[in-house]
Amino acid sequence: MNAYTRLVHHETAACNDPFAATAVPIYQTATFDIGDVDDPRAYDYARSGNPTRRVLEDTLATLEDGSRGFAFSSGMAAIASLTRLLTPGDEVVLGHDVYGGTSRLFEQIVAPCQGVIIRRVDFSNCDAVSDVVNERTRLLFVESPSNPCQHVVDIKRLASRIYGLEILLAVDNTMMSPHLQRPLSLGADVVIHSATKFLGGHGDVTAGAVIVRDEAMAERLAFVQNAEGTALGPFDSFLLLRGIKTLGLRLQQQQATAHRCVEVLRQRPDIAHIYWVGLEDHPGATIHERQAAGPGSVVTIDVGSASVARALLTETRLFQAAVSFGGVHSSISIPTCMSHASAVNSSDDGDGAALSESLVRLSFGIEGANDLISDLTRVLDATAQPATVHTDLPITALHDQDEFTMSNSANCVGPSNV
Ligand SMILES: *Cc1c(COP(=O)(O)O)cnc(C)c1O
Repeated sequence: MNAYTRLVHHETAACNDPFAATAVPIYQTATFDIGDVDDPRAYDYARSGNPTRRVLEDTLATLEDGSRGFAFSSGMAAIASLTRLLTPGDEVVLGHDVYGGTSRLFEQIVAPCQGVIIRRVDFSNCDAVSDVVNERTRLLFVESPSNPCQHVVDIKRLASRIYGLEILLAVDNTMMSPHLQRPLSLGADVVIHSATKFLGGHGDVTAGAVIVRDEAMAERLAFVQNAEGTALGPFDSFLLLRGIKTLGLRLQQQQATAHRCVEVLRQRPDIAHIYWVGLEDHPGATIHERQAAGPGSVVTIDVGSASVARALLTETRLFQAAVSFGGVHSSISIPTCMSHASAVNSSDDGDGAALSESLVRLSFGIEGANDLISDLTRVLDATAQPATVHTDLPITALHDQDEFTMSNSANCVGPSNV
């Protein structure tokens, strides 16, 4: 099935609805009447299984080319469940630039409480992998492209390097979503999502997912999910199913907007650097193009100083100053003091990625690109020449040609005039 079709057509057999509801019903119940104890019905207790969640989990598995999916109350709960497959003395090799909360979980909980050894590696320098893994290594955990600096890992190559070893390769696919990248098809063993970001897409649900292919691993994850009670609730599962349907359209629009804004930003001398895999001079661009269907809509820019970064954060009007990304609303964050504060604080031993305070992460939503460009340039112009530039122009004066007109362009990246 086409990627867009898969997003809309969910296999709903798991809820076996007697009225043939066309939208997946929310089974807001903690318990189910099991009927005959000797021949119980499919569900008994919602921690162990719930039809709404099951449809979501099956959908996630399909979208990621996996065999089983598991939905959790957050991305962190999803990652934590994966760490339960580790035993004391095992070693985890963690990407040097993973999400701040992931670093915190591994370094401050998994290492001290589960007796697991954590090693940090720059996987975008993949040649080092054979030097890093040893007989204790059980898990490689990577993001590609990473967040916020968009280092790209060659997933297929990394998978081939550990092939036949008892080492799992887990890819946190949050930045891409299954619509753009499917790590299991590239040889990874586990896919992780913070479904709070692109999968949900509306900033109204916190959720996470783990998707695997291997049946034995799926059984162990199902056991962990039930034993620890970290599964996603029925209403949140419904919200995710609803959000997933428009993932393809959202991404199409968001990527086109990111592209337009980057084109403007890269003309500006006051932007020191742009980190986006969509740029042809990005060091990972070729690998990324091979393994993903698009660059995504999260762009990190280096604005040269911490004060300009702060000004952008507080003075843009259309970018919500929020840690999350991937939603229909554009958002802006300063990784060092927001999403990655936990990593900055915890990596004083220096083996995490060093982040600059002049980095600003922009997540482009589905607003009109011209509005977003005006909003950014207004603040940037003002910080460059504070005495002469008005910073209080009303937003309505800044966008006159914003109209939703569908693009005729062959590659169909979305409305060209927005
Ligand atoms: C947000 C995020 C997480 C954590 O997910 P939550 O849903 O916030 O718990 C994990 N990985 C990445 C890449 C993220 O962006």
